[in-house]
Amino acid sequence: MVKGCGLILSMLVAIALLSAGSQAQQPDALLFTAEEIAYLKQKQQLRYCIDPNWLPFEALDAQQKHIGMSADYVTLLSRLLPIKLQLVPSKDWSDSLSLVATQKCDFLPLAMRTPSRDTFLLFTKPYLSIPSVIATTLDKPYLEDLHQVVTMPIGIRRGFGFIELYHAQYPDLQIIPYDSYEEGLLQVQSGLLYGFLGNMGSISFSLQQNKMTNLKISGRLTGDSEMSIGSRIDEPLLSSILQKAILRIDANARQQINNQWLKVQFEHKVDYRLWWLLVTVVLVLSMLGCWFYLKTSTLNRALRLANSELEQLSQHDPLTGLYNRQYFDSKLQQALALCQRQQLPLTLAMMDLDNFKQVNDECGHLFGDQCLRHFAALCLQNFQRPQDMLVRYGGEEFILISVGTPAPDMKKLLEAFVGKFAADAVEWSGQQRFCTISIGAYCQVPPLTLDVKQLLQLADEALYVAKNRGRDQLHLVAPASPETNAEQP
Ligand code: GH3
Ligand code: MG
Ligand code: MG
Repeated sequence: MVKGCGLILSMLVAIALLSAGSQAQQPDALLFTAEEIAYLKQKQQLRYCIDPNWLPFEALDAQQKHIGMSADYVTLLSRLLPIKLQLVPSKDWSDSLSLVATQKCDFLPLAMRTPSRDTFLLFTKPYLSIPSVIATTLDKPYLEDLHQVVTMPIGIRRGFGFIELYHAQYPDLQIIPYDSYEEGLLQVQSGLLYGFLGNMGSISFSLQQNKMTNLKISGRLTGDSEMSIGSRIDEPLLSSILQKAILRIDANARQQINNQWLKVQFEHKVDYRLWWLLVTVVLVLSMLGCWFYLKTSTLNRALRLANSELEQLSQHDPLTGLYNRQYFDSKLQQALALCQRQQLPLTLAMMDLDNFKQVNDECGHLFGDQCLRHFAALCLQNFQRPQDMLVRYGGEEFILISVGTPAPDMKKLLEAFVGKFAADAVEWSGQQRFCTISIGAYCQVPPLTLDVKQLLQLADEALYVAKNRGRDQLHLVAPASPETNAEQP
């Protein structure tokens, strides 16, 4: 019953306030007590002071209009409070504090509670929490604790609430006060200050406004700026009204204000260290990669060279440079099989230097070697098609294998070669001698029944005939069938 009467009274007071014709809103009778509503009615207006130069939190613009975060909060408060809120302009923050201390002002919408301010202000519970940070030049490391920099000069804004707390927490800290963030941050840029302490909003706003791109926020410090509404100490009803009103501002509305004014990114410890770690790892890996690549490519080159030298040695005769017998053995089978399969003419010419023992005996072994080199060079000049293969078969015996040349053509070539060699004197160390060769050659499309051993034997027998017929000549193996058009003397 009593409660019901109170409610009716509150409503009546509210209606009375509304009819008073002020800018005040309908009072929320459920929010305020009758005593509080009566207080507001008696006040008619509430005067408030701000810091005129403290963006993004609050400031006066060129037209002396209140702007910044606290302006948005005051707008929201004015919708909740049934009374006009009137700004009292001040010269600076100290002036605002004096005005509220002398009751020329009723409240400060955004103030941090400190022991000294408790002597003349009543504070609501904090409604805005701003991290405390330090700004330094880009080269400074991440800072976790001010103990790390007690020997360095650190700037702070004069009148900043944390100045008392920092003095208490870090007695040795060299704190130098500045009248504005801009002034202090300029000293950081010039290197006179290690860093500048303050709340994240003010510092980042100042960095952005002044385009100080060579400074960064390089550490979050203990203690956030807990912002409350501070009101004159002699009117506790006002503090209670403001407390109720500020609690009515919901989380969404607060977030919107924060998002609008505190668009800030600051460097985290992890990013900074990770960045250098990443750079170092990438550099070391790149250097290792380059070293490994250079080393392996050098080794690979050497290996390829060694392999090709080895291959050359394993396949070639060192004196003449022609293929050796081992290589020939492996290739002869392939050549024979190919000609049998494709029905191609195959030439196997066995060439033997005549009376070579006598050459050695008369001219010396070294001259004999020169004869062999001379003969090999002439062979290479005369049989240089891709399908020709020249082999030093042993001692002074050589073999030519050739695929695809018809017997009549090959006969002409071999006969011509016998003549050329006989006419080309071997010269070495002042000695000169004409040498000759005998050739026994198989030059036909090989029948499917012929094997390698028989093929070599046929050529060897033909060579024997050439030798017996007087040397310095060619003898061809007789064709296996009458159709084969091979020459036979
Ligand atoms: P023919 O006309 O019947 O083939 O008589 P020939 O003297 O050439 O045959 P023979 O088999 O009697 O002698 C071959 C000689 O070839 C004997 C050997 O000293 C010589 N000879 C073999 N290999 C080499 C070599 O690498 N260098 C030199 N200088 N002589 C060699
Ligand atoms: Mg011989
Ligand atoms: Mg011989």
